[in-house]
Amino acid sequence: MTKFNTLLVRGGKPDDNHTGAVNVPIYNSSTYRYPKLGSDVRWDYERSGNPTRDNVENVCAELENGDRGFAFSSGMAAIHAALSLFKPGDHIIIGDNIYGGTFRLVNDFLKPRGIKFSEVDTQNIQALEEAFTPETKAVYFETVTNPLLKVSSVKQISKVAHEHDAMVIVDNTFLTPYLQKPLDLGADLVLHSATKYLGGHSDMTAGIIVTRTKELSDKVYTLQNSIGAILAPQEANLLRRGIQTLNLRMDRHIVNAKKIIKYLERSDKVGRVYYPTVDKNSIDYAIIKDEARGAGGVLSFELKDGLDAAKFVNSLQLIILAVSLGAAESLVEVPAFMSHFEIPKPDRLAMGIKDELIRLSVGLEDADDLIADLDQAFKKI
Ligand SMILES: *Cc1c(COP(=O)(O)O)cnc(C)c1O
Repeated sequence: MTKFNTLLVRGGKPDDNHTGAVNVPIYNSSTYRYPKLGSDVRWDYERSGNPTRDNVENVCAELENGDRGFAFSSGMAAIHAALSLFKPGDHIIIGDNIYGGTFRLVNDFLKPRGIKFSEVDTQNIQALEEAFTPETKAVYFETVTNPLLKVSSVKQISKVAHEHDAMVIVDNTFLTPYLQKPLDLGADLVLHSATKYLGGHSDMTAGIIVTRTKELSDKVYTLQNSIGAILAPQEANLLRRGIQTLNLRMDRHIVNAKKIIKYLERSDKVGRVYYPTVDKNSIDYAIIKDEARGAGGVLSFELKDGLDAAKFVNSLQLIILAVSLGAAESLVEVPAFMSHFEIPKPDRLAMGIKDELIRLSVGLEDADDLIADLDQAFKKI
Protein backbone atom coordinates (compact mmCIF):
# COMPACT_ATOMS: atom_id res chain seq x y z
CA MET A 1 0.00 0.00 0.00
CA THR A 2 1.24 3.49 -0.80
CA LYS A 3 2.68 5.16 2.29
CA PHE A 4 1.22 8.31 3.85
CA ASN A 5 4.00 10.70 2.80
CA THR A 6 3.63 9.59 -0.80
CA LEU A 7 -0.14 10.00 -0.66
CA LEU A 8 0.31 13.58 0.57
CA VAL A 9 2.29 14.49 -2.52
CA ARG A 10 0.79 12.18 -5.10
CA GLY A 11 -2.68 11.25 -3.84
CA GLY A 12 -5.90 11.65 -5.80
CA LYS A 13 -6.18 10.59 -9.38
CA PRO A 14 -6.90 13.17 -12.05
CA ASP A 15 -8.85 11.18 -14.60
CA ASP A 16 -9.48 13.68 -17.37
CA ASN A 17 -6.07 15.25 -17.79
CA HIS A 18 -4.80 14.62 -21.29
CA THR A 19 -1.86 17.05 -21.29
CA GLY A 20 0.64 15.38 -19.01
CA ALA A 21 0.42 18.25 -16.52
CA VAL A 22 1.53 16.90 -13.13
CA ASN A 23 -1.14 18.86 -11.30
CA VAL A 24 -4.87 18.77 -11.74
CA PRO A 25 -5.94 21.88 -13.64
CA ILE A 26 -8.15 24.50 -11.98
CA TYR A 27 -11.43 23.85 -13.77
CA ASN A 28 -13.18 27.19 -13.88
CA SER A 29 -16.40 25.84 -15.19
CA SER A 30 -19.70 25.98 -13.38
CA THR A 31 -21.40 23.80 -15.99
CA TYR A 32 -20.48 20.89 -18.29
CA ARG A 33 -21.62 19.95 -21.76
CA TYR A 34 -23.82 16.94 -22.36
CA PRO A 35 -22.74 15.18 -25.61
CA LYS A 36 -26.41 14.56 -26.23
CA LEU A 37 -29.65 14.64 -24.33
CA GLY A 38 -29.76 11.79 -21.87
CA SER A 39 -25.97 11.17 -21.88
CA ASP A 40 -24.57 9.79 -18.66
CA VAL A 41 -22.03 12.54 -17.82
CA ARG A 42 -19.48 12.39 -14.97
CA TRP A 43 -19.75 16.13 -14.26
CA ASP A 44 -22.74 18.32 -14.94
CA TYR A 45 -22.67 21.30 -12.56
CA GLU A 46 -20.00 22.61 -10.20
CA ARG A 47 -21.98 22.38 -6.97
CA SER A 48 -22.51 18.67 -7.65
CA GLY A 49 -18.89 18.03 -8.60
CA ASN A 50 -15.80 19.71 -10.01
CA PRO A 51 -12.64 17.85 -11.08
CA THR A 52 -10.31 20.14 -9.12
CA ARG A 53 -12.39 19.76 -5.99
CA ASP A 54 -12.89 16.03 -6.57
CA ASN A 55 -9.13 15.62 -6.62
CA VAL A 56 -8.54 17.22 -3.23
CA GLU A 57 -11.56 15.38 -1.82
CA ASN A 58 -10.03 12.09 -3.00
CA VAL A 59 -6.66 12.98 -1.49
CA CYS A 60 -8.32 13.65 1.89
CA ALA A 61 -10.26 10.38 1.75
CA GLU A 62 -7.01 8.50 1.09
CA LEU A 63 -5.14 10.30 3.87
CA GLU A 64 -7.87 9.48 6.40
CA ASN A 65 -8.40 5.87 5.18
CA GLY A 66 -12.03 6.84 4.58
CA ASP A 67 -14.67 6.04 2.01
CA ARG A 68 -15.09 9.52 0.60
CA GLY A 69 -13.98 13.13 1.13
CA PHE A 70 -15.98 16.34 0.84
CA ALA A 71 -14.60 19.87 0.56
CA PHE A 72 -16.49 22.91 1.83
CA SER A 73 -15.98 26.66 1.72
CA SER A 74 -15.01 26.80 5.42
CA GLY A 75 -14.64 24.60 8.46
CA MET A 76 -18.00 25.89 9.71
CA ALA A 77 -19.66 24.92 6.43
CA ALA A 78 -18.32 21.38 6.89
CA ILE A 79 -19.56 21.30 10.51
CA HIS A 80 -22.96 22.62 9.42
CA ALA A 81 -23.23 19.87 6.81
CA ALA A 82 -22.19 17.18 9.33
CA LEU A 83 -24.71 18.34 11.93
CA SER A 84 -27.39 18.53 9.24
CA LEU A 85 -27.42 14.72 9.32
CA PHE A 86 -29.75 15.10 12.32
CA LYS A 87 -33.40 16.04 12.68
CA PRO A 88 -35.59 17.70 15.31
CA GLY A 89 -35.84 15.52 18.42
CA ASP A 90 -32.40 13.97 17.95
CA HIS A 91 -29.96 14.38 20.82
CA ILE A 92 -26.25 14.97 20.33
CA ILE A 93 -23.55 14.90 22.99
CA ILE A 94 -20.91 17.56 22.34
CA GLY A 95 -17.57 18.24 23.97
CA ASP A 96 -17.79 21.05 26.53
CA ASN A 97 -14.73 22.83 25.14
CA ILE A 98 -15.35 22.80 21.39
CA TYR A 99 -14.59 25.60 18.94
CA GLY A 100 -16.56 28.80 19.67
CA GLY A 101 -18.05 28.94 16.17
CA THR A 102 -19.41 25.42 16.63
CA PHE A 103 -21.06 26.44 19.92
CA ARG A 104 -22.62 29.41 18.11
CA LEU A 105 -23.99 27.12 15.37
CA VAL A 106 -25.36 24.76 18.03
CA ASN A 107 -26.89 27.41 20.29
CA ASP A 108 -28.15 30.00 17.82
CA PHE A 109 -29.07 27.81 14.85
CA LEU A 110 -29.52 24.11 15.64
CA LYS A 111 -31.16 24.27 19.09
CA PRO A 112 -33.92 26.63 17.88
CA ARG A 113 -34.58 24.05 15.14
CA GLY A 114 -35.31 21.31 17.66
CA ILE A 115 -32.05 19.38 17.86
CA LYS A 116 -31.04 18.73 21.48
CA PHE A 117 -27.50 18.95 22.79
CA SER A 118 -25.71 18.09 26.03
CA GLU A 119 -22.25 19.43 26.77
CA VAL A 120 -19.90 16.91 28.34
CA ASP A 121 -16.23 16.75 29.25
CA THR A 122 -15.42 14.01 26.73
CA GLN A 123 -12.20 13.15 28.55
CA ASN A 124 -14.43 11.86 31.35
CA ILE A 125 -15.84 8.59 30.01
CA GLN A 126 -18.14 8.10 32.99
CA ALA A 127 -19.71 11.54 32.41
CA LEU A 128 -20.06 10.61 28.75
CA GLU A 129 -21.84 7.34 29.60
CA GLU A 130 -24.29 9.22 31.81
CA ALA A 131 -25.19 11.73 29.10
CA PHE A 132 -26.77 9.22 26.71
CA THR A 133 -30.55 9.26 26.27
CA PRO A 134 -32.68 7.00 24.04
CA GLU A 135 -32.62 9.86 21.49
CA THR A 136 -28.82 10.23 21.40
CA LYS A 137 -27.71 9.92 17.79
CA ALA A 138 -24.12 11.17 17.93
CA VAL A 139 -21.13 12.25 19.98
CA TYR A 140 -19.28 15.26 18.56
CA PHE A 141 -15.94 16.31 19.98
CA GLU A 142 -12.47 17.68 19.28
CA THR A 143 -9.48 15.41 19.83
CA VAL A 144 -7.39 18.29 21.20
CA THR A 145 -9.27 21.26 22.61
CA ASN A 146 -8.60 24.92 22.28
CA PRO A 147 -6.99 26.73 24.10
CA LEU A 148 -6.16 24.29 26.93
CA LEU A 149 -5.09 21.37 24.70
CA LYS A 150 -7.10 18.73 26.55
CA VAL A 151 -7.08 15.39 24.74
CA SER A 152 -10.06 13.06 24.32
CA SER A 153 -9.79 9.42 23.32
CA VAL A 154 -11.29 8.53 19.95
CA LYS A 155 -11.02 4.82 20.83
CA GLN A 156 -12.85 5.00 24.15
CA ILE A 157 -15.52 7.44 22.98
CA SER A 158 -16.20 5.38 19.84
CA LYS A 159 -16.59 2.22 21.90
CA VAL A 160 -19.11 3.82 24.26
CA ALA A 161 -21.00 5.64 21.49
CA HIS A 162 -21.32 2.53 19.34
CA GLU A 163 -22.67 0.56 22.31
CA HIS A 164 -25.45 3.16 22.31
CA ASP A 165 -25.90 3.04 18.50
CA ALA A 166 -24.68 6.62 18.23
CA MET A 167 -22.25 7.81 15.58
CA VAL A 168 -18.94 9.50 16.33
CA ILE A 169 -17.98 12.81 14.75
CA VAL A 170 -14.47 14.12 15.34
CA ASP A 171 -13.13 17.60 14.61
CA ASN A 172 -9.45 16.80 14.14
CA THR A 173 -8.29 20.23 12.97
CA PHE A 174 -5.46 20.36 15.54
CA LEU A 175 -3.84 17.01 14.71
CA THR A 176 -4.56 16.40 10.99
CA PRO A 177 -4.31 12.90 9.45
CA TYR A 178 -0.53 13.18 9.59
CA LEU A 179 -0.63 12.79 13.36
CA GLN A 180 -3.86 10.88 13.87
CA LYS A 181 -6.46 9.05 11.80
CA PRO A 182 -9.71 9.02 13.81
CA LEU A 183 -11.54 6.71 11.36
CA ASP A 184 -8.92 4.01 12.05
CA LEU A 185 -9.59 4.47 15.78
CA GLY A 186 -13.34 3.97 15.49
CA ALA A 187 -14.85 7.33 14.47
CA ASP A 188 -17.50 7.45 11.74
CA LEU A 189 -16.89 10.94 10.40
CA VAL A 190 -13.82 13.16 10.70
CA LEU A 191 -13.84 16.83 9.81
CA HIS A 192 -11.34 19.66 9.64
CA SER A 193 -11.07 23.36 9.35
CA ALA A 194 -8.65 23.07 6.42
CA THR A 195 -8.12 26.81 6.86
CA LYS A 196 -5.58 25.74 9.48
CA TYR A 197 -2.88 23.03 9.05
CA LEU A 198 -4.17 21.35 5.88
CA GLY A 199 -4.13 24.62 3.93
CA GLY A 200 -1.33 25.84 6.13
CA HIS A 201 -0.62 29.29 4.70
CA SER A 202 -3.33 31.69 6.00
CA ASP A 203 -4.45 32.35 2.44
CA MET A 204 -7.86 30.69 2.23
CA THR A 205 -10.70 29.14 4.20
CA ALA A 206 -11.84 25.56 3.65
CA GLY A 207 -13.48 22.65 5.43
CA ILE A 208 -13.15 18.91 4.94
CA ILE A 209 -15.32 15.94 5.85
CA VAL A 210 -14.22 12.33 5.41
CA THR A 211 -16.69 9.49 6.02
CA ARG A 212 -16.03 5.87 6.95
CA THR A 213 -18.90 4.10 5.20
CA LYS A 214 -20.54 4.34 1.80
CA GLU A 215 -23.93 4.74 3.49
CA LEU A 216 -22.74 7.83 5.35
CA SER A 217 -20.94 9.15 2.25
CA ASP A 218 -24.20 9.11 0.30
CA LYS A 219 -25.94 11.12 3.02
CA VAL A 220 -23.14 13.69 3.29
CA TYR A 221 -22.99 14.03 -0.49
CA THR A 222 -26.70 14.84 -0.59
CA LEU A 223 -26.20 17.46 2.13
CA GLN A 224 -23.15 18.99 0.47
CA ASN A 225 -25.02 19.29 -2.80
CA SER A 226 -28.25 20.50 -1.16
CA ILE A 227 -26.80 23.08 1.22
CA GLY A 228 -24.26 24.11 -1.37
CA ALA A 229 -21.31 25.51 0.63
CA ILE A 230 -18.76 23.89 -1.67
CA LEU A 231 -15.07 24.71 -1.98
CA ALA A 232 -14.30 26.75 -5.12
CA PRO A 233 -11.80 25.27 -7.61
CA GLN A 234 -9.14 27.94 -6.95
CA GLU A 235 -9.29 27.21 -3.23
CA ALA A 236 -9.33 23.46 -3.89
CA ASN A 237 -6.05 23.91 -5.75
CA LEU A 238 -4.52 25.91 -2.87
CA LEU A 239 -5.60 23.20 -0.47
CA ARG A 240 -4.04 20.49 -2.67
CA ARG A 241 -0.81 22.49 -2.65
CA GLY A 242 -0.86 22.97 1.10
CA ILE A 243 -1.48 19.29 1.76
CA GLN A 244 1.59 18.26 -0.24
CA THR A 245 3.88 19.71 2.46
CA LEU A 246 1.78 18.84 5.53
CA ASN A 247 4.33 16.31 6.81
CA LEU A 248 7.30 18.69 6.57
CA ARG A 249 5.40 21.60 8.08
CA MET A 250 3.93 19.58 10.93
CA ASP A 251 7.33 18.10 11.84
CA ARG A 252 8.79 21.61 12.03
CA HIS A 253 5.80 23.01 13.95
CA ILE A 254 6.36 20.29 16.56
CA VAL A 255 10.14 20.77 16.79
CA ASN A 256 9.67 24.53 17.22
CA ALA A 257 6.85 24.05 19.76
CA LYS A 258 9.05 21.78 21.87
CA LYS A 259 11.93 24.28 21.86
CA ILE A 260 9.56 27.06 22.91
CA ILE A 261 8.05 24.91 25.66
CA LYS A 262 11.56 24.28 27.05
CA TYR A 263 12.19 28.00 27.07
CA LEU A 264 8.79 28.82 28.68
CA GLU A 265 9.28 26.21 31.41
CA ARG A 266 12.44 28.01 32.49
CA SER A 267 10.87 31.48 32.46
CA ASP A 268 10.06 33.06 35.83
CA LYS A 269 7.20 35.01 34.21
CA VAL A 270 5.30 31.87 33.19
CA GLY A 271 2.96 30.03 35.55
CA ARG A 272 1.88 27.03 33.54
CA VAL A 273 2.39 25.63 30.05
CA TYR A 274 -0.42 23.71 28.32
CA TYR A 275 0.58 21.11 25.74
CA PRO A 276 -0.47 17.45 25.75
CA THR A 277 3.01 16.09 26.41
CA VAL A 278 4.25 18.45 29.15
CA ASP A 279 2.86 16.38 32.03
CA LYS A 280 3.88 12.77 31.54
CA ASN A 281 1.41 11.69 34.26
CA SER A 282 -1.62 13.27 32.60
CA ILE A 283 -4.50 11.56 30.78
CA ASP A 284 -3.70 13.84 27.83
CA TYR A 285 -0.22 12.38 27.54
CA ALA A 286 -1.48 8.79 27.84
CA ILE A 287 -4.05 9.27 25.06
CA ILE A 288 -1.68 11.14 22.73
CA LYS A 289 0.97 8.44 23.15
CA ASP A 290 -1.55 5.73 22.38
CA GLU A 291 -3.60 7.31 19.59
CA ALA A 292 -1.46 9.92 17.82
CA ARG A 293 2.06 10.41 16.49
CA GLY A 294 2.47 13.84 18.03
CA ALA A 295 0.60 16.70 19.67
CA GLY A 296 0.80 19.38 16.98
CA GLY A 297 1.98 22.97 16.93
CA VAL A 298 -0.39 24.83 19.24
CA LEU A 299 0.45 25.52 22.88
CA SER A 300 -0.83 27.83 25.58
CA PHE A 301 0.76 29.32 28.64
CA GLU A 302 -0.27 31.43 31.60
CA LEU A 303 1.64 34.46 32.69
CA LYS A 304 2.11 34.54 36.46
CA ASP A 305 -0.90 36.11 38.22
CA GLY A 306 -1.17 39.84 37.75
CA LEU A 307 1.18 40.05 34.77
CA ASP A 308 -0.37 41.92 31.86
CA ALA A 309 -1.12 39.68 28.86
CA ALA A 310 -2.10 42.68 26.73
CA LYS A 311 1.22 44.37 27.35
CA PHE A 312 3.03 41.13 26.59
CA VAL A 313 1.37 40.44 23.24
CA ASN A 314 1.55 44.10 22.23
CA SER A 315 5.30 43.92 22.81
CA LEU A 316 5.85 41.02 20.41
CA GLN A 317 7.51 42.09 17.19
CA LEU A 318 7.90 38.92 15.11
CA ILE A 319 5.01 36.78 16.37
CA ILE A 320 1.76 38.12 14.94
CA LEU A 321 -1.21 39.03 17.13
CA ALA A 322 -4.07 37.28 15.31
CA VAL A 323 -6.64 34.53 15.74
CA SER A 324 -6.42 31.31 13.70
CA LEU A 325 -3.66 28.71 13.82
CA GLY A 326 -1.79 26.15 11.78
CA ALA A 327 -0.07 28.74 9.62
CA ALA A 328 3.49 29.10 8.35
CA GLU A 329 3.84 32.24 10.47
CA SER A 330 3.57 32.17 14.26
CA LEU A 331 0.31 33.59 15.59
CA VAL A 332 -0.46 34.59 19.15
CA GLU A 333 -3.76 35.44 20.78
CA VAL A 334 -5.24 36.10 24.22
CA PRO A 335 -8.33 33.84 24.42
CA ALA A 336 -10.06 35.89 27.15
CA PHE A 337 -10.01 38.96 24.93
CA MET A 338 -10.14 37.41 21.45
CA SER A 339 -11.32 33.88 20.57
CA HIS A 340 -13.26 33.32 23.80
CA PHE A 341 -14.36 36.91 24.48
CA GLU A 342 -18.05 36.08 23.89
CA ILE A 343 -18.09 33.67 26.85
CA PRO A 344 -19.11 35.47 30.09
CA LYS A 345 -16.10 35.86 32.39
CA PRO A 346 -17.34 33.56 35.22
CA ASP A 347 -17.95 30.76 32.68
CA ARG A 348 -14.60 31.42 31.06
CA LEU A 349 -12.80 31.18 34.39
CA ALA A 350 -14.70 27.98 35.21
CA MET A 351 -13.39 26.57 31.92
CA GLY A 352 -9.87 27.42 33.08
CA ILE A 353 -9.34 30.37 30.73
CA LYS A 354 -7.73 33.12 32.79
CA ASP A 355 -7.03 36.64 31.55
CA GLU A 356 -3.32 35.74 31.71
CA LEU A 357 -3.68 32.82 29.30
CA ILE A 358 -1.90 33.18 25.97
CA ARG A 359 -2.27 30.82 23.00
CA LEU A 360 0.55 30.41 20.55
CA SER A 361 0.30 28.73 17.16
CA VAL A 362 3.95 28.01 16.55
CA GLY A 363 4.99 28.67 12.96
CA LEU A 364 7.87 27.59 10.77
CA GLU A 365 10.30 30.42 11.52
CA ASP A 366 13.68 29.78 13.16
CA ALA A 367 12.90 28.79 16.76
CA ASP A 368 15.76 30.99 18.03
CA ASP A 369 14.09 34.07 16.54
CA LEU A 370 10.74 33.13 18.07
CA ILE A 371 12.34 32.63 21.48
CA ALA A 372 14.23 35.93 21.20
CA ASP A 373 10.94 37.67 20.44
CA LEU A 374 9.22 36.08 23.46
CA ASP A 375 12.24 36.96 25.58
CA GLN A 376 12.24 40.67 24.72
CA ALA A 377 8.46 40.84 25.33
CA PHE A 378 8.81 39.15 28.76
CA LYS A 379 11.35 41.81 29.71
CA LYS A 380 8.71 44.52 29.09
CA ILE A 381 6.16 43.12 31.59
C1 LIG B 1 -11.06 27.31 12.94
C2 LIG B 1 -11.76 26.10 13.48
C3 LIG B 1 -13.04 25.75 13.02
C4 LIG B 1 -13.82 26.60 12.04
O1 LIG B 1 -13.23 26.59 10.77
P1 LIG B 1 -13.34 27.82 9.73
O2 LIG B 1 -12.49 27.34 8.61
O3 LIG B 1 -12.82 29.04 10.44
O4 LIG B 1 -14.78 27.97 9.38
C5 LIG B 1 -13.60 24.58 13.53
N1 LIG B 1 -12.96 23.82 14.43
C6 LIG B 1 -11.74 24.14 14.90
C7 LIG B 1 -11.08 23.25 15.89
C8 LIG B 1 -11.10 25.29 14.43
O5 LIG B 1 -9.88 25.61 14.92
